[in-house]
Amino acid sequence: MPTDSLPRFENGGVVAQCRNCGGTVTRFSTTQVGGGYCTIQKELDFGDSLDFALIRCNGCGHGALAVLFADHLGNPPQLMSVHPQMPNIAVVPVDVPADLLAELREAEEVAGIGAFRAATALLRSTLEKTLKANGYTAGNLYNKIDAAAGDHVITAARKRQVHEDVRRIGNDVVHEDWRPVAEEEFAKAHDYVVWLLEDLYADRPTVVAELQTASRLDANGAPIS
Ligand SMILES: [Zn+2]
Repeated sequence: MPTDSLPRFENGGVVAQCRNCGGTVTRFSTTQVGGGYCTIQKELDFGDSLDFALIRCNGCGHGALAVLFADHLGNPPQLMSVHPQMPNIAVVPVDVPADLLAELREAEEVAGIGAFRAATALLRSTLEKTLKANGYTAGNLYNKIDAAAGDHVITAARKRQVHEDVRRIGNDVVHEDWRPVAEEEFAKAHDYVVWLLEDLYADRPTVVAELQTASRLDANGAPIS
């Protein structure tokens, strides 16, 4: 199923990513009672309503709540939101270590409830932990990014992206005055961290050999500090 326009209401059910199914796009069935959906309604003006419907993932069986707008003309309901909100979960290489994956997933989870400042700080953390795991242990994050680019393990473009849109924004969140972080800023930083993980883990044996040649990893693949 395509991942655009998610979540959506379709043929009497909800199509969405399920966090319990690892972010897989699945179908959630509504609970049917008699000829209609089992809902609690909030009546709006002009006979329209908000319908709160229990739904259940056909894959894993976990439940969720769909909020639907039903107009007084009897048109198909319009899906407003799903709770708990389903985070946008990126597909990453299978060789990404569990701790780095957990940090990325927590960033996605937090972004899923709209807390983009906290999510962006977690992306900065994912970036720094990723570089350390690959042998870039010296200095601050600025130095680590430059060292990885200096070894040509990441491209000049990726260096610029993670400097500007991950490290700098993450630092702003932690150290500077409060300001909102937009969803678009998070989404860009998220893309760049995911692409960095692809750079380093999609063809892991080749990258490990390069990092060993650059004296970043030892013969066992552990960081040389
Ligand atoms: Zn599921």
